[in-house]
Amino acid sequence: MMKSNMDDIKKRLSELTDKLNDYAYRYYVLDDPVVTDDVYDRMYDELVLLEKQSGIVMPDSPSKRVGGEPVKAFAPHTHINRLYSLDKCRSFDELREWAEKVRKAADGKPPLFTLEYKLDGLTLVVTYIDGEFAGAATRGNGIVGETVTAQARTIKTIPRHIDVQGRVEVKGECIMRRSSFRKYNETAEEPLKNPRNGAAGALRNLDPDVTASRNLDMVFYDVNYIETDSVHSQQEGVNWLKKHGFYTEKLSITSDIDEIIKQIEEVDRDSLDFDIDGMVVKTDNYELRDKLGFTDKFPRWAIAYKFEAEETTTKVIDVVWQVGRTGKLTPLALLEPVELCGATVRRATLNNYGDILRKKVKKGSTVFIRRSNDVIPEILAAVEGTGTEEIVKPSVCPDCGAPLVENGAHLFCSNKENCRTSIIAAISHFASKDCMDIDGLSKSTITKFYDELGLRHAYSLYDIKKEDLLGLESFKDKKADNLLSAIENSKRVRLSSFINALGIPNVGKVLASDLAKIYGDINKLAAASPEELAEIDDIGEVVAEDIHEFFKKNQQLAEEYFSRGITIIADIKTSGVFDGQNVVLTGTLASMPRNKAAALIEERGGRVQSSVTGETTLLIAGEKAGSKLAKAKAAGIRIIDENEFLSLVNA
Ligand code: NAD
Repeated sequence: MMKSNMDDIKKRLSELTDKLNDYAYRYYVLDDPVVTDDVYDRMYDELVLLEKQSGIVMPDSPSKRVGGEPVKAFAPHTHINRLYSLDKCRSFDELREWAEKVRKAADGKPPLFTLEYKLDGLTLVVTYIDGEFAGAATRGNGIVGETVTAQARTIKTIPRHIDVQGRVEVKGECIMRRSSFRKYNETAEEPLKNPRNGAAGALRNLDPDVTASRNLDMVFYDVNYIETDSVHSQQEGVNWLKKHGFYTEKLSITSDIDEIIKQIEEVDRDSLDFDIDGMVVKTDNYELRDKLGFTDKFPRWAIAYKFEAEETTTKVIDVVWQVGRTGKLTPLALLEPVELCGATVRRATLNNYGDILRKKVKKGSTVFIRRSNDVIPEILAAVEGTGTEEIVKPSVCPDCGAPLVENGAHLFCSNKENCRTSIIAAISHFASKDCMDIDGLSKSTITKFYDELGLRHAYSLYDIKKEDLLGLESFKDKKADNLLSAIENSKRVRLSSFINALGIPNVGKVLASDLAKIYGDINKLAAASPEELAEIDDIGEVVAEDIHEFFKKNQQLAEEYFSRGITIIADIKTSGVFDGQNVVLTGTLASMPRNKAAALIEERGGRVQSSVTGETTLLIAGEKAGSKLAKAKAAGIRIIDENEFLSLVNA
């Protein structure tokens, strides 16, 4: 290699080493990452490639070290068996190459491989002496970790006693479940960047009360040391853990690497209540592991297949405020476009002004964004010290210029009855599937009606005549007829859908359905006192007041609809196969859309809930069922598939 070229490589290697070491310090030691894992990983891959090509390795290169140095504030713990990192691959070809190396080392005998989730938390090693919990430590630099015994004591899934004599050391991942993470971030003064960061910051906190408040969990995957017993393979190890009361996750075992690949392809990350950043493939047999050995950093007998990152960072260009159907203003961040999970992201949600302050989001801030089940990703936090301009709390409605009023954490347009955007949003809600279900009436058509036909109230949709439609651009004879008949068809409506359509603040589909069941008549609901409403499960004082206020302000509203021919049809059969059941639907059903399935359940006496709660009695899981399935499983709720559901419905 030419000298100048060599100098350039050395310079780049030194730059990368310094940067990566700084990032690693922020991540492992301070629990305050400044870049996402994919940014770190890309730099790390560049470093490893350059080291390989040039043969030069800086003395402090992160490719030769595991994790970060233990923090002095925690007592040091020297591990009995050194802990390592994992080698990584991102393609199935690389995975096959690795498997081939293992196969060669096995001298022709087909080796068994195990497949496990790569949980995204932090390693925790737990020690027992004569069956009693005796301590816990982090990985640290792999040789010496930090003693976090008092902190680990707050984690309920770490057994206090086991039925084994002598010294035992078991290893697993300390995690924060997604549900705990979301709950924590809803109110936290300092929101967490991700569940991994939440787990690491809580476990490595000097105050065990902080650890306890984050509701951490533990998933075990390895036996590190047993004085009085022995295991000879990964499978035996995991069975040993299970037998002694340690919580483990799914493990599959096969000698067929194509089967492993098939299973990796089938993993549904959304269905889990914890983050995984890949899958770990391990050589099952310990004798073969000994033969394969270790590098400075990782075992040669295991590899992690890494998934696409679910988080990334980008810059906030601006924050705009959107007016919703109840006049509520929601901030929307406009972002520098960035790729995330195969899509280009340009916008992200924030809940309210308080959320902007808590997350320290400014114009120009670098923010961590995370894919969510919704279409638009969410902003988790801003990197400290970034951002140039504070986001101003608006004082007037961006649409109609009316002053804003504050109600709880949210801002509302004080003129929502006359605010164009709010009215269009309210009429769109009225026409939507779970409300009056007016087929073919899109938001853009409603906007046209507002601007050109002077539509101001949802009930005026029923006054629209064919000549009105024909006067609009893009409406020809057939389209006009179709829309008019869809509007006409919507007149026969269930009480629950009608209540939902009215757009009462804080009343969505599930509550509308409960109210329909309880009152059975819109006039009775309109006459209910706040005290009476507050007696109903799931209705607090605020919502009770919202419902009461709504009908007080809109005394003639129901009449406006009835005089235009709206007829309430029977809502729900009083009894049936789902009588008394609280049912959650999740995943995709092959035979029908979810709202149809919900109607079938309600017609047969069931109550459809939008999420799994303590009251849920049944979960119907379609294809690609999401995190609700995992939650229901964990809570021991009865779960049925689509076929079983259809046979119940048709019984
Ligand atoms: P790693 O986290 O990628 O893999 C090793 C770890 O996987 C083990 O220590 C163990 O804790 C965990 N693991 C989870 N499930 C497991 C299972 N079933 N079996 C065995 N182990 C399992 O490697 P690492 O060395 O701990 O960290 C490197 C990673 O950390 C990088 O890929 C990078 O993404 C991240 N990192 C990020 C930053 C940042 O600033 N964002 C900085 C440093 C490191």
